[in-house]
Amino acid sequence: MERLSGEKAQSVEAFGWAARDSSGHLSPFVFSRRKTGEEEVRVKVLYCGICHSDLHCLKNEWHSSTYPLVPGHEIVGEVSEIGSKVSKFSIGDKVGVGCIVDSCRTCESCREDQENYCTKAVATYNGVHHDGTINYGGYSDHIVVDERYAVKIPHTLPLASAAPLLCAGISMYSPMKYFGLAGPDKHVGIVGLGGLGHIGVRFAKAFGTKVTVISSTTGKSKDALETLGADGFLVSTDEDQMKAAMGTMDGIIDTVSASHSISPLIGLLKSNGKLVLLGATEKPFDISAFSLILGRKSIAGSGIGGMQETQEMIDFAAEHGIKAEIEIISMDYVNTAIDRLAKGDVRYRFVIDIANTLAATRS
Ligand code: NAP
Ligand code: ZN
Repeated sequence: MERLSGEKAQSVEAFGWAARDSSGHLSPFVFSRRKTGEEEVRVKVLYCGICHSDLHCLKNEWHSSTYPLVPGHEIVGEVSEIGSKVSKFSIGDKVGVGCIVDSCRTCESCREDQENYCTKAVATYNGVHHDGTINYGGYSDHIVVDERYAVKIPHTLPLASAAPLLCAGISMYSPMKYFGLAGPDKHVGIVGLGGLGHIGVRFAKAFGTKVTVISSTTGKSKDALETLGADGFLVSTDEDQMKAAMGTMDGIIDTVSASHSISPLIGLLKSNGKLVLLGATEKPFDISAFSLILGRKSIAGSGIGGMQETQEMIDFAAEHGIKAEIEIISMDYVNTAIDRLAKGDVRYRFVIDIANTLAATRS
């Protein structure tokens, strides 16, 4: 395809899978994408990861879903068309698109390369583009995005297992760096060994951080310690194990996707330790002030990362050979995959092979 002059092209037909209501059931969906703007790239989607946030959104668990909803914000693809003012990418480049596709670009957060904390950040799907249209995500054949919100995927990264880095990867990398948990003299606990958690273990090891997995699933111990290289494994329901580990961690990153008690986790922190919440559960936590006062502990949150940091994370992953453990699936398996994800039955991320399997689902 050729470089566009700007206004020439009209909207382009697109095809993906959408949910029509909060049952979350996905089925084929024909829609249209806008023409490629001057500073935008059109990306042919090759792979898309299935994040637990997709599940929350499909089922309207955050009460903000608009249907039809095409999920997908762990996108890896190939640039198929570029606008006349694009400077970062060429046709054929392998790129990643994560959770946001726009922001105000002028506020303090945007100026500090933390577009993820811009109050006007626009989500890749279920977000509203400035022309008023609802964004559709990566469970589709292509996507159009401003070049600022796409990152380069280095040649050395396998594309399918790089896809989860676009959300799970940056969501773990950013808080480890920001909260001072990335380094050899630090001990981090990672709660929940799922899509986010398992990538977090790999980043922690690459930083030289000591990492202990805190899991509700006894059976994940061997995988955590042997496959992923964690230094320790605690079963969160085992009171003796939890008691023995009290006061040993500089920080804990909590990726649990469902309501759970955080008091036992605060007990694991050293003085000045931080519990960082990533899991986006709806129900408020019940926490006693004393558990924080004694030891000057804090609870914080963290959400994905800025575009510059996302590129830094991807480059770091390529340098250290970090990739997600994935189950590659075909598009027509997606509803089964979502059901399995809801039950925690995935090791550790489903990735949809969009390029090779989506077209066949179009009748
Ligand atoms: P996931 O693959 O389903 O992993 C979540 C893990 O949490 C499970 O593997 C399980 O690990 C644990 N878990 C689930 N239910 C539990 C329960 N009732 N009690 C205790 N542990 C439980 O999900 P994910 O894709 O990693 O996402 C995790 C959460 O982070 C989701 O809520 C998602 O929306 C959110 N998220 C946040 C950000 C951010 O930037 N803040 C970014 C992406 C996703 P064990 O079997 O080891 O216990
Ligand atoms: Zn996500």
